[in-house]
Amino acid sequence: MKKTKVVKIRDLRVGGKNPIRIKGMLKTPTKKVRLLIKEAKGLQEEGAEAIRVAVEKEEDMGLANLLKKHITVPIAADIHFQPKLAILAINNNFDQIRLNPLNISNKRDIKNIAQLAGQKKIPIRIGINSGGFKQSNISKKNLAKQMVEKCFDYIEALESQKFFDIMVSLKCADVSTTIAANRIFSKRSNYPLHLGITATGSCLEGITKSSVGLGAMLNQGIGDLVRVSLTTDSLTEVKIAKYIIQSLGLRNFGPEIISCPTCSRCGVDLPKVVEKFREKLDKLNYKKPCKIAIMGCIVNGPGEATQADLGVAFGRARGVLFKKSKIFKKTTEDKIINDLIEELKKYE
Ligand code: SF4
Repeated sequence: MKKTKVVKIRDLRVGGKNPIRIKGMLKTPTKKVRLLIKEAKGLQEEGAEAIRVAVEKEEDMGLANLLKKHITVPIAADIHFQPKLAILAINNNFDQIRLNPLNISNKRDIKNIAQLAGQKKIPIRIGINSGGFKQSNISKKNLAKQMVEKCFDYIEALESQKFFDIMVSLKCADVSTTIAANRIFSKRSNYPLHLGITATGSCLEGITKSSVGLGAMLNQGIGDLVRVSLTTDSLTEVKIAKYIIQSLGLRNFGPEIISCPTCSRCGVDLPKVVEKFREKLDKLNYKKPCKIAIMGCIVNGPGEATQADLGVAFGRARGVLFKKSKIFKKTTEDKIINDLIEELKKYE
């Protein structure tokens, strides 16, 4: 897959050989300032490398400066319908603007925005969502093509103003249409792609669609930045983005847990052990990359545990701990979390 052009959102380099970036989105209503700041801080702590906020009215223009007192990652303004908000956002210290070609399409408006964004070095994301297209009697392939064509028209309008700091997103609720649109685009252009599946449904459905869709594209070398969209809280979106990227070996954000699905052979409450252990790791903010196997019995347990950096294979309520392929300690269901944490601390 060819390398994309590098575009900077303030100091965040996106595209080219840079790691796949993660963007978060604020969900708190913008007038609830205290909660908004808390959410932004949480997103940055969780690993969001840029944060998007929906800018709907002129009163939202102070948000970039306000948030910048509390977080260091760049802030993107998501703008629809009103070109004047794009101009205001650029003049009010936002680090990126998102424009939707389906609702800001007047040539003069695009020209004014591109000229100002060019002067101020503010990148523009062209964000196309399939929701704005008439989808009856149209095949998925044709919808994907129409989205890409719309995007190229907009790129042309920006480039005619000598504006090239462009990122693109092509999102649908349908996974295969999203993959098709991004695949077609990436064959024709080297502008960096912001990936996402939109309007994904309930949390589990959303995680599944995002993992399948983003995983398929990233695995083909398509995509430079990820924003997972779920109908749940924004921290979960960032967590899932990290899991997707890490599961493909594209970045490492910390320990990977390998645990078995459990079956009637399992003599311990393994789901509880694994959940508690994950919570503990998150609380400790443990980031060192390693594999930790937590297995329910001795059928596959020792095999997986010995391939991991650290592992446990349980029998009936008791288990054996492995480190670098060697058993080194016996443990119990009650003690296992502390035992694993103690061993991990020795790694640091
Ligand atoms: S490791 Fe053991 S308990 Fe876990 S799924 Fe396999 S056979 Fe069942």
